[in-house]
Amino acid sequence: MLNYSVHCTKCGSESVVMYNAICRWDKDNQKWEYAVNYDTMYQCPDCHNDSTEVEEREINYKDVPRYSMPSVHSNLVTVMNYIVESEMEGRVDEEDSYYPTYRALEDLLEKINDEEESINA
Ligand SMILES: [Zn+2]
Repeated sequence: MLNYSVHCTKCGSESVVMYNAICRWDKDNQKWEYAVNYDTMYQCPDCHNDSTEVEEREINYKDVPRYSMPSVHSNLVTVMNYIVESEMEGRVDEEDSYYPTYRALEDLLEKINDEEESINA
């Protein structure tokens, strides 16, 4: 499925809001859920453009990282600690079946550290 971002037709802002929308109460999620809009209007808070149209732009996920490097870094460390604590009884065990996984994660962590250094350099 292709994803789109929605932009003001005048200034390109992504802050556009839709109004005149008809909502239905969603009991399970405890909030109003968009149901239908018979006479759709859009308003841009940035340039005050009032329009019946918005511009849809296809999102190219190659340009949008779906992760942040610090969180990948700390998650890797968490998984490595988990392997050592729960599978290897507290110390790195080269005979353990998870050792190759541990080593692969360690390589990945080194790669990330190198990348972070080259970004900060
Ligand atoms: Zn605008």
